[in-house]
Amino acid sequence: MHNLAEDRREFALKRAYELKQSIHDYLEKEPFIETGFRMVKRNEANKEKILKYLGAGEEDWNNWIWQMKHRICQPEVLKEFLPLDEKRYAELVELSKHFRWAISPYYLSLIDFEHYENSPIYKQAVPVIEELLDRNGSDDPMGESYTNPAPRITRRYPDRLIINVTNQCAMYCRHCQRRRNFGEKDEHATKKQIKEALNYIRKNREIRDVLITGGDALLLSDVMLEWILSELDSIPHVEIKRIGTRVPVTLPQRITPELCSILEKHPPIYINTQFNSPLEVTPEAKKACDMLIKAGVVLGNQAVLLRGINDDEHVMKKLNQELLKIRVRPYYIFHAKQVRGTSHFITKVETGIKIMEKLRGYTSGLAVPTYIINAPGGYGKTPMLPEYLISWGEEEITIRTWENRVMKYSNKIYDLE
Ligand SMILES: *Cc1c(COP(=O)(O)O)cnc(C)c1O
Repeated sequence: MHNLAEDRREFALKRAYELKQSIHDYLEKEPFIETGFRMVKRNEANKEKILKYLGAGEEDWNNWIWQMKHRICQPEVLKEFLPLDEKRYAELVELSKHFRWAISPYYLSLIDFEHYENSPIYKQAVPVIEELLDRNGSDDPMGESYTNPAPRITRRYPDRLIINVTNQCAMYCRHCQRRRNFGEKDEHATKKQIKEALNYIRKNREIRDVLITGGDALLLSDVMLEWILSELDSIPHVEIKRIGTRVPVTLPQRITPELCSILEKHPPIYINTQFNSPLEVTPEAKKACDMLIKAGVVLGNQAVLLRGINDDEHVMKKLNQELLKIRVRPYYIFHAKQVRGTSHFITKVETGIKIMEKLRGYTSGLAVPTYIINAPGGYGKTPMLPEYLISWGEEEITIRTWENRVMKYSNKIYDLE
C-alpha cells in the first residue's frame, strides 16, 4: 500500500537518479585529468634531474632567490631536460632573439618531459613559432598606457586602481596581457615612482581599494613590500589592499615565514593569483596557500581561458574544485585578450559560455567564477554569462534553470496595507 511518505521518497529517488545521470560524463573523464597531486612522483623525478644538472640540493630548491637565479632561459639548457627535436630547437633559438622567456626550476619540474608538447605548463612557459607569426591584436589592447593618471598607476574604475610595481616574474607567461612590459631585463619601479603613485592615492579620497601588481608584485623585496603596505595603511581612505601575483603557482618558495609575518601585520590583504591548470595545484602550491591563509590573507584565483590548456568543461571544473581544496576561491575566468603574439591561445567566446553553463548547478557555487571580457580601450571588466533570464514581462518573467528547464516566475509585488 502506498502512503504519502513513500510517494515522496519515490519522487526523490527518481530525481536523484536523474542527477546521477547528469554527472556521468564528468565521472568518466575525471580520473584521467592530470593534477599536481596526482603527478607528485613524476614531478619529484623531474626535480631530481634538475637539481642534479644544477649541482644543487633540497635547501637550494626551497630558496626562492636560488630559484630566481637559476631560472631556465636558454634553449641549450632546456634541451637537457626536454627531448626537443632539431626543428623545435632551431625555432626556440630564433624565438629567443625576439622574446624573453624564463622558467623557474620548480615550474619546469611540472612539465611532462617526455610529452612536453602537450603540456599545459610548457605551453604557458616556452615560446612557439606562432608568437612570431602572429599579425593580429595589438600590444596594448586595453589601452593601459592611456589610463595612467600618475606614474605606475592604471585607473579604470571610480573607487580602485592598480599600482604596477615591477615587470619581473618568476616565469613569463606566453599569454601575458602585458607582454609589452617584458622588456630586455627585470626592472622594479623606483621608490620615487612609487612615492608619486602613493601621493596620487593620498590626494584622491575616493580610492578605497589598491591593487599592487606587475609583473609579479611578490617579487619585490620584503623591505620594499613592507614599506608600500605601511604607506598604504597610513592613508585613511584606503580600506583594502590587494596583491596580484603568480608566485603561488610558479614560485611557491617565495612564500616564506618572513614574508608572511609582514603580510600578517597589514590586514586586510586579498591576494589574487592565477592557476590555469589542475596540474599547477601541487603540494608545494598548497603549502604556500596554507601559509598565506595563516597570515590572514584571503585568496582568490583569476584564471585565463586558454586554448589547449583549459578550454574544456571537465578540465575547468576540475581546476576550480582543486582550488577549493586548497582554499583558493575561483574569482574570475578571463577571456584571452587580443594581445599580439598570443592569438594561438584565444578561444571563441562561445567556448567560455559553454564552460560556465557546465559549471553553474553542476558543481558547488563556490567553484563558479565570473567569466569576464575586458572591454577594448580599458573600459573595464564585463561579465559574460549564459542567459538565464529568458523574457521579461510586467508581472511575470521567464527563467531557464541550469538544466534547461524553462519556467515562469512571478514578478509581482504585494501591498499588504
Ligand atoms: C582588474 C582591475 C581592477 C580590479 O577589478 P575588480 O573587478 O574589482 O577585481 C582594478 N583596476 C584595474 C585597472 C583593473 O584592470
